[in-house]
Order: sequence, then C-alpha cells, then structure tokens
Amino acid sequence: MHLLEEGLAPLGLTLTHRQLQDFHRYYEELASWNQRVNLTRIIDYSQVQTRHFLDSLTVSLVLPDEVKKGGRIVDVGTGAGFPGLPLKIAFPGLRLALVESVGKKAAFLNHMVEVLKLSDVEVHHGRAETLAHEPSMREGFDVALARGLAPLRTLAELTLPFCRVGGVLIAHKKGNITREVQDARDAVSLLGGEMVGKTPIKIEGLKDRRLLIVIRKLKATAARYPRRSGIPRKRPL
Ligand code: SAH
Repeated sequence: MHLLEEGLAPLGLTLTHRQLQDFHRYYEELASWNQRVNLTRIIDYSQVQTRHFLDSLTVSLVLPDEVKKGGRIVDVGTGAGFPGLPLKIAFPGLRLALVESVGKKAAFLNHMVEVLKLSDVEVHHGRAETLAHEPSMREGFDVALARGLAPLRTLAELTLPFCRVGGVLIAHKKGNITREVQDARDAVSLLGGEMVGKTPIKIEGLKDRRLLIVIRKLKATAARYPRRSGIPRKRPL
C-alpha cells in the first residue's frame, strides 16, 4: 500500500498500520471477487490504490470535521464501495449507509463489512428512487456522496432527497464538467439545493481532472422527488 501511504500527506491524512492492513484486505477481496462478479475495471494493485482508495479519500478535503467524527453519510450508487468504504476505514466514527442497486455488488459490500468487522455500516440493496422515499432514509443524512453515478442533474435528484436541510451533497466528478454544472443549476434549486463550491483535486501521477462539487441543501425536497425508477435518468430535471 505504498502509493496509498505516499498520497495521504497531501490530503492531510495519516493512517495506522491497522488501517493500512484493512485497505490491503479490501484490495485482496476486490481482486478475488472481481474474477466472478463484475465489480470494477480497475484492478491493478497500483491503480486500485490511486484511482479507488486515494481518489475516494479526497472527499475528506471537503467533509465537515464534525461529520468525520460521527456524522451520518449515504453513498449512493457505491458499486464496490467507492467512495464510502475507504472513508469509513479512515474515519471509523462515520455512520455510513451504502446504496447499490446491483445485488452482487451489495453482496460484496456485505462481505467487506463482515471481513473488516465494520460497525455502523448499513448496506441497502435497492434503487435510490425507492430508498429515498423511505422515512428512515429521507432527509436523514448530514452528507450524501456519489461518484460515477450519473450526470449532475440526475445525480442531484437521486441524492439530494437523502440530505437533511443544512446538510451537503458531495459529487465526485472527473473531466471537464463546466457545461454539466451549468445544466444542473435549475435541477439543484428545484430540489432545494444551492451550489456552494468546486474543489479541483490533484492526485500524484494521475492526469485526468477531478473535481469535488459541493451542494448545500437549503430547503426540504418536494415529496414527488425522486421520480419513479429510471425517470431521473431518462428525463432529467
Ligand atoms: N461509486 C462507484 C460506482 C460507480 S458506477 C465508483 O465510483 O466506483 C455506478 C453505480 O451505481 C453502479 O454500481 C450501479 O449499479 C449503481 N446505480 C446506478 N443507478 C442507481 C440507482 N438509481 N440506485 C442505486 N444504485 C444505482
């Protein structure tokens, strides 16, 4: 886990030997499960450390300090656990909910929770369109996260309903997204949010542009959002 270790200082993070061991175990399980279940295209040992682990940990740059200590976070469309699980390993106080619609990926997440003996992690196998209407989840989170879920307009509809008023949505984005951000403005305000910042991210050795978009929830989201399954993607707000 040398690349992971070397990349921590620029993020202002340190990890114990035990935490680094957990990341190593995460890598081993990811590589092993990926032979049977399509979890990720990135499976090379170095690339997992930079493109999955460090990339996920960059979210800590914009994560409020009180949230790191014990806030409630939901990672929507988490896939093999990114960015939620690396954040949970680095900040064990987090109360994390992972939302994933593909059953085999959810099974992997449950397996990781067991292997790493993680407490306060819930795995929800289902679609955001449905789960965001459940009373126990709706507007119940300090922070909603998503990486690689959908274009920002759709992503906002799938994630903002989970955020409490006063909470934040952190969207982890790659590439040139100036246009995508412009196109999402109306949707974000319709859902009760306001764009508050864009933080460019640099990871040593990676050329592609990465950005963390922070959206604050100012008002409750109307009960009709998210619309039924598939609509947020097919007919973006
Ligand atoms: N966040 C991960 C995975 C990105 S791929 C990463 O960055 O590596 C997007 C994931 O979201 C897929 O695993 C897909 O199954 C899941 N997904 C897509 N639409 C969803 C929805 N409406 N509800 C829940 N999960 C969804």
